[in-house]
Amino acid sequence: MNEIYRVAIDGPSGAGKSTIAKAVAKALGIDYIDTGAMYRAIGYKMSSTGVDPEDLEAVSAMLEDTEIDFQAGDIYLDGEIVNNKIRTPEMSMMASVCSQIPAVRQKLVQLQRAMGTRKSVIMDGRDIGTNVLTDAEYKIYLTASAEERARRRFLELQEKGEEQSFESVLEDIRQRDHNDMTRELNPLRKADDAIELDTTGLDIDQVVQKVLEIVGR
Ligand code: C5P
Repeated sequence: MNEIYRVAIDGPSGAGKSTIAKAVAKALGIDYIDTGAMYRAIGYKMSSTGVDPEDLEAVSAMLEDTEIDFQAGDIYLDGEIVNNKIRTPEMSMMASVCSQIPAVRQKLVQLQRAMGTRKSVIMDGRDIGTNVLTDAEYKIYLTASAEERARRRFLELQEKGEEQSFESVLEDIRQRDHNDMTRELNPLRKADDAIELDTTGLDIDQVVQKVLEIVGR
């Protein structure tokens, strides 16, 4: 039997984690787990069922009755694929709000740890190297300047025909960095044993190559 190994990728919003992790998973023939999608799915359920994030009893009851899974690149919420429903600015905000609730983090971290014991995976998020898979064989902290991350996001929005000024995209990025890095529970930070990869000025292929060199498989 082949040995199992885990690749943990953390970093701020817009650093390109999911694009890179997906490509690396494909190259290595292992599973990709998008933990941000799991927080988004919980946020989606909360907003579609009208659960108030401040009502912790209602949140706990909802969590007991919620099944989340990530398989073959699809996120499942109670058996339904919700890939598209969770990729909206509203769900980014809901995910950010619900990721600060201890019961939500507890449930998702437990699931993520279980996923990382069954087979080789590459998992991306904010607390994978520091909390979820502290003993991952490879840890990478992917970053880029706030301006570069805003520029990429701005071009993406333009392609979709959505109008938002560069300044407001940059402001959103800075706000999310602040939220993720200063929250009390599992804040975003580079694990001491993670390799930092600054992707400013690099294209996707170059970053994928660098990650594959680090993993060396
Ligand atoms: O990565 P993505 O933007 O989809 O994540 C959505 C939100 O979920 C983030 O803003 C972050 O606050 C939260 N998150 C988290 N821990 C993770 C992954 C995401 O708190 N491991």
